[in-house]
Amino acid sequence: REAVDALLHDVLGYGEVRTRPRDFEKDLQWGQALEITDRLSELARSRGRTFQVKLSNTLVVENHRPFFPASEAVMYLSGEPLHVITLNLVEKYRRACPAVPISFSAGVDARNFPECVALGFTPITTCTDLLRPGGYGRLPKYLDNLEERMRALGVRQIGDYVVKAAGQGEEAIRRAVPPGPLQAALAETLRSDAVDLAGVVARSGPPGLYDELVRVAALLNTPVVVERATRDPRYRAEANRKPPRKVGSRLALFDCINCDKCVPVCPNDANFVYETGVLRTEYQSYRYEKGAVKAFPGGVFAVTKAHQIANFQDFCNECGNCDTFCPEDGGPYIEKPRFFGSLQAWRSLAGRDGFFAERAESIDAIWARIRGVEYHLEVDRRLDRGLFTDGVLQLEVRHSERRVVGAFAGSRAREGHVIDFSAYLNMALAVDGVLDPLKANPVNAPYPGPFPLPSGERPG
Ligand code: SF4
Ligand code: SF4
Repeated sequence: REAVDALLHDVLGYGEVRTRPRDFEKDLQWGQALEITDRLSELARSRGRTFQVKLSNTLVVENHRPFFPASEAVMYLSGEPLHVITLNLVEKYRRACPAVPISFSAGVDARNFPECVALGFTPITTCTDLLRPGGYGRLPKYLDNLEERMRALGVRQIGDYVVKAAGQGEEAIRRAVPPGPLQAALAETLRSDAVDLAGVVARSGPPGLYDELVRVAALLNTPVVVERATRDPRYRAEANRKPPRKVGSRLALFDCINCDKCVPVCPNDANFVYETGVLRTEYQSYRYEKGAVKAFPGGVFAVTKAHQIANFQDFCNECGNCDTFCPEDGGPYIEKPRFFGSLQAWRSLAGRDGFFAERAESIDAIWARIRGVEYHLEVDRRLDRGLFTDGVLQLEVRHSERRVVGAFAGSRAREGHVIDFSAYLNMALAVDGVLDPLKANPVNAPYPGPFPLPSGERPG
């Protein structure tokens, strides 16, 4: 813990991040880790296998930010500071267990990926970086950067790259290969613009020598790369403090600044784009009065952009990452139309607004909860007829015109009961857009099913 704190606070400047003694005390201790390494390495060897460690996991620290509820005692640090902490751990572990291969996962991004490869890590895992704008689209840059480094060094194979990447190649050859013609040939190709260490060893070296050369080079590279990363200002607090920009406006069901950042930053692909018609209309809602359903002015309903965002609830684990990167306030996964994958799922979260929609031949059936009120809309697209109800009053609608052509009361209607026509407009625009078969999304994609869709079902 002292070593982690020294790196976090004194070297990297994250003075506000606090570790807790108890988290280190209950975790695996250094001596135990070495003992486990020895035991499992031996067991693996006896079975013709290799024991390997993965470094590391996220770092448990005190929750000191308002982002998470105060009831959460801890949060988990990842990204830039974890990269440096874990590289230092790698150096310490390799001094103790130089023969154990390491899989690395800590703050890997496109810029440091070539360095991670130079340390002989396999596999290399990235996560935090993929939660930033661009999402999985950030991955090709990792390989572009590695290719650029490999071309600059004149190498064509990963092993040759490891040997040459940090200027330790000649020493690695001296340590791994006995003096003689093979050692000289390797040193010569290493210095050339067309390095072929693998080819030289394959032609005149014993089996296993190339792997040993690469392993020795990775070990020699370790203090060099770790020192470089530890000194690099890009990992320091001052370079990583700036939160993503907010513009001060608040999200609503429709319309936003359309930056689309919430789509790729979602690790679960839960946010998606869809197109809807723009609409501005003064609408009327309906009230049950003295045995009749009467219209009264409802307000103005406006959707100003065709490009919209929705959320697929069944994929969303509410990690909040889209909220972090959305320039507007409120959180896309909370404010944007939330579509459930089944009627059962929609029902099971009864305290939450959202939609379930299904298209069957010419009929669209939509269940919605808006501001806590449940509605049902059934649209016969062939007849252009919508039946919209809250379970008490029912409106018949010319769907393409968003216009009421009939209003009816059910047996449960009570004096003064109101059905809000803006709920229909919300449902119509969101669902017409999301069910458009020309734009695939998690809602309109054909699933093998079965969906629990009792025909003719209504809320209430
Ligand atoms: S919801 Fe936020 S992140 Fe998503 S497109 Fe709109 S403004 Fe951008
Ligand atoms: S809160 Fe949901 S939609 Fe937003 S990033 Fe997390 S999983 Fe994706």
